[in-house]
Amino acid sequence: MRQHRAVSIMAAPLLDFDDTETAFARLSYSDLKRTVFLLNILRRPWLARMAQATGRLGLATRLPMIPWAIKRMVFDIFCGGTTLEEAGNTAASLAVEHVGCILDQAIENQSNEVARDRAFNGLYVSIEAISGWYGFSSCAVKASAIQDVELLARIQQGEVLQGADLAQYERGCARLTMLAEAASRYGVVLLVDAEESWFQKPVDAQVRVLMAKYNRHRALICMTIQSYLRECEKIYAAEVEEARIGGYLLGIKLVRGAYLEKERQHAKSKGLPDPTQSSKAHSDEAFDRIAIMALSQRSRVSLCVASHNEASIRKIVGRMGELEIPLDDPNIWFAQLYGMVDHVTFALARAGLRVAKYLPYGSVRDAFPYLIRRAEENRSVIEHTDRQVALIERELLRRSRLAAG
Ligand SMILES: Cc1cc2nc3c(=O)[nH]c(=O)nc-3n(C[C@H](O)[C@H](O)[C@H](O)COP(=O)(O)OP(=O)(O)OC[C@H]3O[C@@H](n4cnc5c(N)ncnc54)[C@H](O)[C@@H]3O)c2cc1C
Repeated sequence: MRQHRAVSIMAAPLLDFDDTETAFARLSYSDLKRTVFLLNILRRPWLARMAQATGRLGLATRLPMIPWAIKRMVFDIFCGGTTLEEAGNTAASLAVEHVGCILDQAIENQSNEVARDRAFNGLYVSIEAISGWYGFSSCAVKASAIQDVELLARIQQGEVLQGADLAQYERGCARLTMLAEAASRYGVVLLVDAEESWFQKPVDAQVRVLMAKYNRHRALICMTIQSYLRECEKIYAAEVEEARIGGYLLGIKLVRGAYLEKERQHAKSKGLPDPTQSSKAHSDEAFDRIAIMALSQRSRVSLCVASHNEASIRKIVGRMGELEIPLDDPNIWFAQLYGMVDHVTFALARAGLRVAKYLPYGSVRDAFPYLIRRAEENRSVIEHTDRQVALIERELLRRSRLAAG
């Protein structure tokens, strides 16, 4: 990251995840009130489901009030803006706090080539734009936005594509290749997200080729590994080996995974074995093991720890201390989603670690699937949501007391 302070302490830093003043300094009293209101809705499953259904119906029937309400109540909390310019302003406000950004054009699952071209153009422009932003900025891409996932799934099943299908698949690959070329030209890190496991393997294969080409001196292209997959540690080991043989730096964004229910339902409906870990503890343990392994392989692996989990982050930062890894090591960074766990992000930044926010931007309609996933995540990991609510309420109280003198 370019604009970080020159911090290079060897011992593990003290991480204060309870410092609400630092965590919420960017947010006004009314922003915090709005966030608590939303999180309180998400804590009640029936209310959250009702809100989601209303949102879906409103967007489908084009009722004008619904996008307005979604924007005000949810979008503004979890997204950086509706335009690249607005997202740039949000990124600049994060950069002031030594927090970078992973810009995400909130477009996924595009169902035709015109829409995929539109998504590609938007991503291309994003890469060009963020190369000029103040602070560290990188760009995320979802294969489903620029490639036909049905073709990817057929390839994964061993089908050899032909004719028009092959041409369409190659167009999708070319879009990703052109984005990687642009990332390399502008010196921007490109992170390819992981999506559903039934079409991810051909995507990873494409990313591997791009890493071999562009990650000679720096991990500019990164793939994503999901620790909720039973085979995640095997995947990691195989990628390390490929990178060793190919003589390139392996770029990894490590996540737990966002499609748990969908994965399980898909496996059930197809009569296939469940590809996910049997419990959250297994996902947690695999996550920590991969991260710790990557720390000791950091001369060959660049690791983005993309997580909100305080225990994992403490463990990883603690291990960095034990291994005497400088906090600003160029191959280790952390990331959290915009609008979530600011108490973690800003504590990491304050301690001198390299950290970024995943910052989606786009229209309310395009961002809706992303927002639904955030709602579901807040509902499924209720203890994180409870903790966020408790911290925000504590900050509101602190500010009220301060104002009262
Ligand atoms: C910067 C960033 C980028 C991301 N990019 C991606 C991406 O490319 N692809 C992607 O899929 N997700 C991505 N995510 C989302 C991520 O996968 C998680 O959904 C989210 O971060 C919550 O996980 P956590 O590590 O913060 O920890 P926690 O909140 O502690 O863990 C929640 C996660 O644990 C797992 N889990 C929960 N219950 C169970 C169970 N019963 N059995 C097994 N596992 C369980 C699930 O993965 C769940 O999301 C990203 C997140 C961040 C912060």
